[in-house]
Amino acid sequence: MFRRNRADRDFREAQRAGQAVLATHTEWPQPDLTGPLAAPADATVVPDFLPPQFRAPCRQDVSGFMMRWHLPLVINGEVHACHCGAYRNWIVFNMRDDSVWLRCEAGHEAEETRLDTAWYNRNSGPVDHFHPTLDEGLRHLGH
Ligand SMILES: [Zn+2]
Repeated sequence: MFRRNRADRDFREAQRAGQAVLATHTEWPQPDLTGPLAAPADATVVPDFLPPQFRAPCRQDVSGFMMRWHLPLVINGEVHACHCGAYRNWIVFNMRDDSVWLRCEAGHEAEETRLDTAWYNRNSGPVDHFHPTLDEGLRHLGH
């Protein structure tokens, strides 16, 4: 009998504790779903699960990709040269619109329509740096 009473008391206490939890639940502020929802505009606003320097950017995150091309650049079997005569040490850009641009060491930039994103992806290594500005990217790549 005594043991039974204690079991009942334990049960009632547990029940009370459970009800207390339920009560706090109903007191939580309800999300207001009537107005416009502030959803992140794109993936870059989502809280990062990795620091940005460890994430590979996707095409929507950046305005373009850039890489250094030390060697003479052969396009359709011919060594490509800038109008200033430079034929190596290019910076190759692959922009979000799939265009490919070449920049020689003297800073001349021109779109190269014979190259595209597929070519860039075949010839570029993994992305290892994020550059907030074009100038920083160029500095990093030695231009
Ligand atoms: Zn040039």
